[in-house]
Amino acid sequence: MKPKPAACDSCPFASQGRGYAAPTPVAQPALLAIGQGPGQVEANTGIPFHPAAPAGRELRAQLAAAGWPVERVVFDNATRCWIRVGKSDEAPQAAIAECYARHWGAPAQALTTGPAAVPVLAVGTPIAKFLIGPWAGLRTAGAVYERTLPERTLPNG
Ligand code: SF4
Repeated sequence: MKPKPAACDSCPFASQGRGYAAPTPVAQPALLAIGQGPGQVEANTGIPFHPAAPAGRELRAQLAAAGWPVERVVFDNATRCWIRVGKSDEAPQAAIAECYARHWGAPAQALTTGPAAVPVLAVGTPIAKFLIGPWAGLRTAGAVYERTLPERTLPNG
């Protein structure tokens, strides 16, 4: 498993989450694709949406089929470690908030503001809920929303 950086040390999910997968640098990003969390392959290799893992293979194929330049897509996850709750890989919202504040919030905000701002593709319910907020009655799959990314504050200050 890829070791976690020091910023994870005080996260309440540090002992529960396995491995760590962070985006690799991308020249001229065109899209930020954020999933719910790494799976085993990603936690082992440190590569989000690894091309050899089922989710990575599927997402990369779908993006290419839709005309996105996959080499210019930044792949990240709502939690950068692999958190399982029971039989589910669905990251708890509290863990997403911790990870957002510690790791991916700042780069996501940088990527989505300014003249070179890129859109965000939320892959899965947990990240869509985190980014969209209360969504009772909202259309979700395939919908496009304009949102400002949340403030980066740790849940417990
Ligand atoms: S949820 Fe994020 S901040 Fe917390 S231990 Fe996992 S990778 Fe680190």
